Amino acid sequence: MSEIVKLAPSYIRSIAPYVGGKPISDLAREMGLDPNQIVKLASNENPLGVSPNAHMAMMDAIDDIARYPDGNSVELRQAVSEKFKVAPEQLVFGNGSNDILELAARAFLAPNDEVVYSQHAFAVYGLVTQAMGAKGVTVKARNFAHDLDAMLAAVTSKTRMIFVANPNNPTGTLLGKVELKSFIANTPKHVLFVLDEAYDEYLSDQDKAESISWLSEFDNLIISRTFSKAYGLAGLRVGFGLTSVAIADLMNRVRQPFNVNSIAQAAAVASLADDEFVERTRALNNAGMLQITQGLKELGLEYIPSYANFVSFKVPDAAGVNQRLLAQGIIVRPIANYEMLEYLRVSIGLLSENTKFLAALKNAIANPV
Ligand SMILES: *Cc1c(COP(=O)(O)O)cnc(C)c1O
Repeated sequence: MSEIVKLAPSYIRSIAPYVGGKPISDLAREMGLDPNQIVKLASNENPLGVSPNAHMAMMDAIDDIARYPDGNSVELRQAVSEKFKVAPEQLVFGNGSNDILELAARAFLAPNDEVVYSQHAFAVYGLVTQAMGAKGVTVKARNFAHDLDAMLAAVTSKTRMIFVANPNNPTGTLLGKVELKSFIANTPKHVLFVLDEAYDEYLSDQDKAESISWLSEFDNLIISRTFSKAYGLAGLRVGFGLTSVAIADLMNRVRQPFNVNSIAQAAAVASLADDEFVERTRALNNAGMLQITQGLKELGLEYIPSYANFVSFKVPDAAGVNQRLLAQGIIVRPIANYEMLEYLRVSIGLLSENTKFLAALKNAIANPV
């Protein structure tokens, strides 16, 4: 190890970098493929793109790009406050909701604090925990879902934070709302409860937890939402946290003054006003989920029933199948780093993309090397 590296704390040196979906341009270069022929179903992006309203707002915002953004996201704050019926002071805006997760960690975690999250839960929880020198406590999942009793049992006097993704990525599992609410109620008050609802917009009305209404009961609750998934703004980086006024104040102190760019703010405001686009997104996702799960069944493959815009399925030689999908221009996500060695995760795409994926998968399974 070089001397300079040793200057970083050991907890930083031992961080394993986040592995994202392979960019289309990388695969095109590696395989000599036409980028337009590549189907990327690897990062749970919205196959419909963005709301036309958001597109127009972005074009308008470009004209003002020489100016710094509004550091308090006042217009966006007002729009979110009205839509979700919370006080503007209860909101924190972030460069994607990953930023919100990190701000929560930065505001509350110190070295040697403990943070509880589930096996197979979103990788960023471990990353932000480790970056603070805190200790991640991974609780074994039950049937791929969060085991709430075991998570509660893992809480000690040193625990400062719990992360729960609902639905979870990469498993797509959903906790029942009654169960989830009683878990939060039973969480000791010295523990911050971070509830990551990146996929909330994909849930049916009856499945939605309506967790925002719980904020008045639990002052240790932080809910994170994003514009990256159903709103289709993954490339812009904008998300937000909803919490108590006191927590929002602390999180705002540790963020960069201009962490949400002006184009993102404008697009987010316009997106929030376009319910029809989100509705269309959900309808397409429901149809695509049916198409893909039906296709997986026909191929005799097991999958984990999912409440989000992706599904993880079990396939013999997942790494080899992934390679043979790539060779056919199809990008999905291997999830070996989530302790799911035999699984691949596919995002729900356009119906035509799903068809190409299923045909390529059939081919990849039938022709092992
Ligand atoms: C995709 C995802 C996010 C969103 O990340 P952004 O930073 O908002 O793009 C957050 N949590 C989970 C579980 C996710 O899968």
